[in-house]
Amino acid sequence: MNYDQARWTDDDERYEPLLSEKHTDEADLDDAPLPDELTRDALELPDLSEPELARHYTRLSEMNYGVDSGPYPLGSCTMKYNPKFTEDVAVLDAAAVHPDRSPESVQGTLELLYDLQDYLGRIGGMDAVTLQPPAGAAGEFTGVLVAKAYHEHNGDERSEIIIPESAHGTNFASAALAGFDVVSLPGGDDGRVDLEALEAALSDETALLMLTNPNTLGLFERDIEEIAEMVHDAGGLLYYDGANLNALLGRARPGDMGFDIMHYNVHKTFATPHGGGGPGAGPVGVVDELAPFLPKPQIVQTAEGRYDFFDPEHSIGKVHGYLGNWLVLVKAYAYIARLGDPGLSDASAKAVLNANYLASQIEYEVPYGPFHHEFVASAGEQDAADVAKRMLDYGVHPPTTKWPEIVGEALMTEPTEIENRKTLDQLAHAFNAVAGEDDEALAAAPERTTARRIDQTAAARDLRLSWQSLDGE
Ligand SMILES: *Cc1c(COP(=O)(O)O)cnc(C)c1O
Repeated sequence: MNYDQARWTDDDERYEPLLSEKHTDEADLDDAPLPDELTRDALELPDLSEPELARHYTRLSEMNYGVDSGPYPLGSCTMKYNPKFTEDVAVLDAAAVHPDRSPESVQGTLELLYDLQDYLGRIGGMDAVTLQPPAGAAGEFTGVLVAKAYHEHNGDERSEIIIPESAHGTNFASAALAGFDVVSLPGGDDGRVDLEALEAALSDETALLMLTNPNTLGLFERDIEEIAEMVHDAGGLLYYDGANLNALLGRARPGDMGFDIMHYNVHKTFATPHGGGGPGAGPVGVVDELAPFLPKPQIVQTAEGRYDFFDPEHSIGKVHGYLGNWLVLVKAYAYIARLGDPGLSDASAKAVLNANYLASQIEYEVPYGPFHHEFVASAGEQDAADVAKRMLDYGVHPPTTKWPEIVGEALMTEPTEIENRKTLDQLAHAFNAVAGEDDEALAAAPERTTARRIDQTAAARDLRLSWQSLDGE
């Protein structure tokens, strides 16, 4: 398959102009059917017709790559396709609820949230769930605060959180932000937790061990029950980073493995849009013992079958306005309800099958395995970032690169359950074609995309948050 991304440029070869630059005619405010005292000219809105506007946004979307354009195997992120019915549900009139409404007047809303708490609790094997945190990272921070409050309540102040070296950066950040010292746990030769290293790291200062399972290499921590016992014997708690839950859905539950706290990345596992800074949700589940420390309010069902708010006795407080990112939660609810138990376990089965199939088809070295929902290949002598840029020329999104660092020049790949065999073969073709190319071809890539090599550091450090900030250039 050949690929060329759309290129919309003006005479100066600049990309699709801003709306404000497209503005050609002066707005004729004299004709505005409003009294003078209600009109203003300071807003500087571009004066454009609907077709001009529609074309502008369509062109921008054509210059972009998304999961609706092709495969998006960005490891750890679970970039699965978001079924459109979840969007339909979120735009129903009934979903537009003012957050200040009284519980009595929004019983349906609360019922949906209550049921979602229940679904997530059952999926994770947790006894109580808060829906407030707006992202996985925020869920981690919430979970760490819950653990802290629990230990303090027991008069057992602990200062350390143990985190595997290969963990996601947000784990370290959440622990540090909550005031803990981070003890970094080196991985074992098989890519899993090394029990001896864990024994050495555990002490009466251990508040928490944070793990994801399957781990970042896509490997299941087979010793998880022993790990849980060791942590609990040391008086610590076990935290499950739910980013990889897609591998376990409907088949195994963190709660049954001995985890005490977990977050769910609903924008990864439960198909709500993800990335681009859009809102997400990172609900947190806990076992019974920790439920009194959850954020307030919780949604509960009363004896009469009504829904109401409830403040847990030793709540850490609020971690988000109102009840969290409601519309994201609606989509997660719709997805879970539509798939049901058989659909969810089918999704995890296919996610695992697809990862293993793709791993078996690519020529790059894949040092560990067999895998769950993702695998980490090594670009070897090639630079993984260059490989990623070149893969774009083959019409696919590249994998996550250079992380985890245990694998040199890592290509962390997660095809997800949504791809069929033909698409997986297209991905394998892209990997293998790039594997055979020389440094020159890689350094020149990407050639077929709208934007070529961009200055990624400047893009992150020199933020232009509105078109006004471009003025005067
Ligand atoms: C994505 C991810 C997170 C953070 O989740 P966000 O929802 O992006 O804040 C944490 N841990 C792992 C392993 C992840 O992949």
